[in-house]
Amino acid sequence: MSEEIIDYGQVTGMVHSTESFGAVDGPGIRFIVFLQGCQMRCQYCHNPDTWAMETNKSRVRTVDDVLEEALRYRGFWGDKGGITVSGGEALLQIDFLIALFTKAKEKGIHCTLDTCALPFRNKPRYLEKFNKLMAVTDLVLLDIKEINEAQHKIVTSQTNKNILACAQYLSEIGKPVWIRHVLVPGLTDRDEDLIELGKFVKTLKNVDKFEILPYHTMGEFKWRELGIPYSLEGVKPPTAERVKNAKELMDTESYQDYMKRVHG
Ligand code: SF4
Repeated sequence: MSEEIIDYGQVTGMVHSTESFGAVDGPGIRFIVFLQGCQMRCQYCHNPDTWAMETNKSRVRTVDDVLEEALRYRGFWGDKGGITVSGGEALLQIDFLIALFTKAKEKGIHCTLDTCALPFRNKPRYLEKFNKLMAVTDLVLLDIKEINEAQHKIVTSQTNKNILACAQYLSEIGKPVWIRHVLVPGLTDRDEDLIELGKFVKTLKNVDKFEILPYHTMGEFKWRELGIPYSLEGVKPPTAERVKNAKELMDTESYQDYMKRVHG
């Protein structure tokens, strides 16, 4: 089908839910669209109800329908706000994203993609679509769950190779990103990994923000509702001291510097 005859407004996506007044997933006040489907299985996931590609809760919606809902809140967005698409894993529905953001940009809306980037491939065929998406994306919120590959598999059940490749690609094309790392005691707060993560992030040229998101237990009830055993049962959010430690370590130039500072 030639591109010219696609009506982007009629492209459909599986939308899990929407939130009218998001304040943390991008700049300003934002309309958040949570897409259905994710292939990761993060132990601390607070949206396990978005995992399945098809569930009773999922709703097939057109781009026009979602945009119409979003635009009701435009008056609250000010200069900075706009639309953020999150998940689940939003990149699993890249055609819907391209269509939604293209239509949104036509209306001058700031578009943010919140992704864990597992579907990313640094291959010409994939990049053709990805570049199309980036042309209508203002900001990417990229979660790096773990810099250490073996630990990443423990935390999420998946490799981190595509995720790091995505971070590097976004740096090459100069797309602004916020890198985010969820800090879970005993799981994603190992000193040596935080240092490596800090070093990796410093190799990127496009990072507007590098955030630590302290683990919280607000999604735990959803696991129970779905009848899935919650492996972080009893794990408490990190203390202010551990968060401070993580921030300092990620800002350390190298592991050697860190060892010198700690051990003299
Ligand atoms: S990538 Fe996000 S939605 Fe998917 S399992 Fe991890 S935290 Fe949950």
